[in-house]
Amino acid sequence: MQASPFSPLALRYPSSFPYLVFAGPCSAETQEQTYATAKALRAGGVRFFRASLWKPRTRPGSFEGVGREGLPWLRRIEEELGMQVATEVASASHVEEALRAGLNTFWIGARTTTSPFAVAELAEALSGEDVTVLVKNPLNPDIELWEGALLRLKSAGVDRIAAIHRGFSTYGKGFYRNAPLWQIPIELRRRHPALTILVDPSHISGRRDLVPLVSRIGLEMNFSGLMVETHLQPDEAWSDAAQQLTPEALFQLIAELDIRPASLADSPQLRGLRSEIDELDRKLLHLLQERMKVSERIGAIKAESHLPIVQPERYRALIEDRLSEGRLLGLDEGFLRELFSSIHEASVHTQHTDTK
Ligand code: PEP
Ligand code: MN
Repeated sequence: MQASPFSPLALRYPSSFPYLVFAGPCSAETQEQTYATAKALRAGGVRFFRASLWKPRTRPGSFEGVGREGLPWLRRIEEELGMQVATEVASASHVEEALRAGLNTFWIGARTTTSPFAVAELAEALSGEDVTVLVKNPLNPDIELWEGALLRLKSAGVDRIAAIHRGFSTYGKGFYRNAPLWQIPIELRRRHPALTILVDPSHISGRRDLVPLVSRIGLEMNFSGLMVETHLQPDEAWSDAAQQLTPEALFQLIAELDIRPASLADSPQLRGLRSEIDELDRKLLHLLQERMKVSERIGAIKAESHLPIVQPERYRALIEDRLSEGRLLGLDEGFLRELFSSIHEASVHTQHTDTK
């Protein structure tokens, strides 16, 4: 396996929070709104600010951003408030105009990461520049596109790179605006252990009341920090009004989420519990092996007697029995249903291969 080329993201200013906090409005609407939001965030200790100038909108007719007009607004925030300010770029001309205005921190939005042509164009425009780039996951749950975009930027010579997990589009309305599918950022981290991955609870949840929950899940999974959309008057926001928090709500959320993964990871108590888990998993594996062996013997008998492998009545009774026993043990029913249907599927598979 090739070594990962990524290292932890170095920001211009150190953070006073236990994890990385990147916050600001979905869109820069007016100079006053953008500056006042930044000022309120800075007063609470946030030094990494976001605001979109160019807004990718699904349908025409909604607010498409103030565009280049807002570039000096963002630059002023950097200079006067001592913040690092990022905006979304989706084309080479966005990059060129932003660089000319003195900005050098950008993110690539989910719609853009989906297109390797667009990412290649951005990588070329950013190549050789002293920039920081955060890459949101693509809209569709394809880790290769996400990793590909990160690697393409790295190969173009961009060294300060991080990823943002903002969830994935699905058909129909689900609980979340964008399904988190945590296994995807977890796999990205497995491939690139040092890569900084932020969680964007705003775009995942789409609803302000769910932002604290998604933030907690993300931090408990040990991701590097949060990207939270913040607006002084969220209900009045020109884009993503339902999901933005006031700066005060963000500070409250941070105060309630005092999760310090690094210090916890090494406590002797945790190490002890982890070895208990390792031992239990070993026992589980042996039990599964035993169960498979019995299942193979059943398979051989069925083959001899020309019986079909799957017996729906027996399967139904087995699941019902395991669920009621599990319920008594306080185990989650959905989890047990999935677990036993996977075990059953694997048994059926061994019986098929055995009788060939
Ligand atoms: C945003 O961050 O405001 C944005 C448009 O996000 P995404 O690309 O994740 O939809
Ligand atoms: Mn937004």
